Order: sequence, then structure tokens, then C-alpha cells
Amino acid sequence: MRKTLIGKRELYFLAALAVLVLLVCTIAYAVTREEGNSVVVTVDGQVYDTYALDKNQTVTVETKYGTNTFVIQDGKVEMEDADCRDGICTDHAAISHKNETIVCLPHKMVISVDVQEEEGQTTEAAFDAIVQ
Ligand SMILES: [Zn+2]
Repeated sequence: MRKTLIGKRELYFLAALAVLVLLVCTIAYAVTREEGNSVVVTVDGQVYDTYALDKNQTVTVETKYGTNTFVIQDGKVEMEDADCRDGICTDHAAISHKNETIVCLPHKMVISVDVQEEEGQTTEAAFDAIVQ
């Protein structure tokens, strides 16, 4: 292999490579920020129940630790009310992306957003996110 100094052609190649890497990172970010379609509630590490994120509803969960009420609306879930001592969970912003969680430590409760696999649909949602 012949050694040469970096010419214009190589610079263009490097620039194109940088753009490509940036694009891949953007796509990876968009995919990890995938919109969820289900809400999983766990209490004490055990799955309590699963709810559809596209169905507006108010759910009250009563456990031996206490009572939490969360609202699913417009594809987002938010802790509306809780009788825990710190109230941190009710201060949490609404969540809608895969792997986002609202934790109520005193009640050992975790509300997390997940994607129930429907391959075609999730890919389409990811592409929509890029276009926007
Ligand atoms: Zn709480």
C-alpha cells in the first residue's frame, strides 16, 4: 500500500463518514426514545398489572403499603395521587417513552412504560419520530 498525505478525496470521505456516524447516533437515540404502548405496574418487584397506554383511564392501586392513583391520558401516564409520605411520585412528570419510570419508594411501586412487541408498528413509530 502506497502512503500519501491526506488529500481532498480523503477529507470528503472522512466528512461523509462523520455525517454517517451522526446519522446512526440520531437513529439510535430516536429508537431508544421509542414511544411506549403499555404501562407496567410492579409492586415489591412483582408485576401487579399491565395497562394499554392508548386507552385513557384512571387506575387506583391499593396494596398493603398504601394507595396510588395514576392517570393514563393521551399516551402518557402520570401519578395523580398517592398517600405515601414523600409524595415524590406525584411530583414526577408524565412519562410516555419506553423504559421511563415513576417510582414510589415508600409504596415499593414502579410504574414503567414498555413496548409490547408488534414489530411493524414500532419501527414505523421510530421513523415518524425522525421525520418530526
Ligand atoms: Zn409516592
